[in-house]
Amino acid sequence: MARVDRHRCPIGGCPHMIDADKLMCRLHWRRVRTITAHAVNKTWRAFLRVERAGRSDDVVALARAQYERARDAALIEAARDPGKELAGV
Ligand SMILES: [Zn+2]
Repeated sequence: MARVDRHRCPIGGCPHMIDADKLMCRLHWRRVRTITAHAVNKTWRAFLRVERAGRSDDVVALARAQYERARDAALIEAARDPGKELAGV
């Protein structure tokens, strides 16, 4: 079996090691709203599609920016303290 590169989950202080192609660990993904997680997957697939189709740099850059915005939103949601969320802070 090929060795897969791994990295630490990027959410503050999380000790979980995850595959290089994963954004964060499962525990943290669970904190991300479904609609946000869906946007990450959708924009990532769209980015890969335009990149593989050899579309112009502008189109690829736009798709990449849309993915990065969705990804950042997911990282922010995952980093939120769920206790505060419940308290309405
Ligand atoms: Zn994590």
